[in-house]
Amino acid sequence: MHNLFDHSKPMKSLENISAKIILKKKREKSVLNRHPWIFSGAVDLIEGNFEPGDIVPVFANDGRFLAKGFLNPKSQIIVRILSFDDEPIDSSFFINRIQRAIALRKHYIDPRDTAYRLVHGEGDQLSGLVVDKYNDNLVMQIFSLGMDRLREDLLQWLVDLLDVTCIIERSEGESRKYEGLTPHKTVLRGKVPEKVVITENGLQYQVDLWNGQKTGFYLDQRNNRALVGKLVSENKRVLNCFSYSGGFSVSAAKNKAITASVDISLESIELAKGNFLLNDLDPSRHAFETISVFDYLSEVRETFDVIILDPPAFVKKKNHITKGSRAYKEINRLAMKRLSPGGLLLSSSCSSYVSWDLFQKILYGAAKDAGRLVRIIGRYGQPADHPVNIYHPEGEYLKSFLLTAD
Ligand code: SAH
Repeated sequence: MHNLFDHSKPMKSLENISAKIILKKKREKSVLNRHPWIFSGAVDLIEGNFEPGDIVPVFANDGRFLAKGFLNPKSQIIVRILSFDDEPIDSSFFINRIQRAIALRKHYIDPRDTAYRLVHGEGDQLSGLVVDKYNDNLVMQIFSLGMDRLREDLLQWLVDLLDVTCIIERSEGESRKYEGLTPHKTVLRGKVPEKVVITENGLQYQVDLWNGQKTGFYLDQRNNRALVGKLVSENKRVLNCFSYSGGFSVSAAKNKAITASVDISLESIELAKGNFLLNDLDPSRHAFETISVFDYLSEVRETFDVIILDPPAFVKKKNHITKGSRAYKEINRLAMKRLSPGGLLLSSSCSSYVSWDLFQKILYGAAKDAGRLVRIIGRYGQPADHPVNIYHPEGEYLKSFLLTAD
């Protein structure tokens, strides 16, 4: 382990000091507004020699210094800004950012919870980097070329700053393609543990770090899983749609509700059953359905006291807004029809292109078509380990409404 605070030797610079990005006239506004992305159309020229992924300074057309960031000419987001200050970008710069990310979680995440997001890309001013912590294991995702080139350094910084036994990389998302990168799934340190059981809100969940969805668990719904636990009581009938490994179901069942978990993937349903057993819950007293939620909700005749809708992002691209909105409306309409009088619907969207406003309009349309009197009784966004940089509204993806229907 090297000493992070040894300032006697100069830090290795990570910058390309021989290149410069110059913006077109009058195209510096978004940078002055601290938006961390520069689109290729705003760039006038790139002076000097560079490699894609280099850290390069950005100047306005009149020569004013604006920022420093990762340059990737292959991406529409040609610059991902790291700093708006003319400061050196070296290992201590990144170590500092990671330390700030760790400090935020120390303050705002319940210390009894053993899994949380440690680095959330733009929300932690580390564009293109996600690090999720599951006990002493880390699952890292890299979505930008600049970060991809720093892989070895990142690994060293994480090992130096944290007590970790295993680091896995699961950089598999679509978005790598836009940066000219291919999927990258590998074990970077240690070996993948056979079984990882995390604690969240006092409950246990087994997480498959290697084969599970995303990095293994949907950490962003932690607060909402706790909320559902509080909303239910003995014998309440709870329908958990898009249930994955049964997070919401376990939380409800542990509070004596009778649950039905619906997911299209058999692996997810198996994981959910395993998580019931792990929490001393008898899966045979609960329902598990491997079927599309669209079909299930169209066919089911029962009503429920609480319904949870947590679908995958239906709007992954801007031009999918209309089609995706229709899908959100349909599941919400169907769910509202299956709510008992006074029942609750916790409805989420994790599409960043669907704003709060649009989501509310979709829910309005669903309520109208379902013919129910629906009231909004809560709105919940991302938890503290998924911070949103206020200058980067695109980072706000998770929106949940708690509704009640008469
Ligand atoms: N609520 C979960 C996370 C949901 S992730 C939690 O708290 O952990 C979305 C889930 O929806 C995935 O498990 C995926 O398998 C499932 N899924 C995707 N499309 C589906 C569909 N049409 N019907 C049912 N499940 C679907």
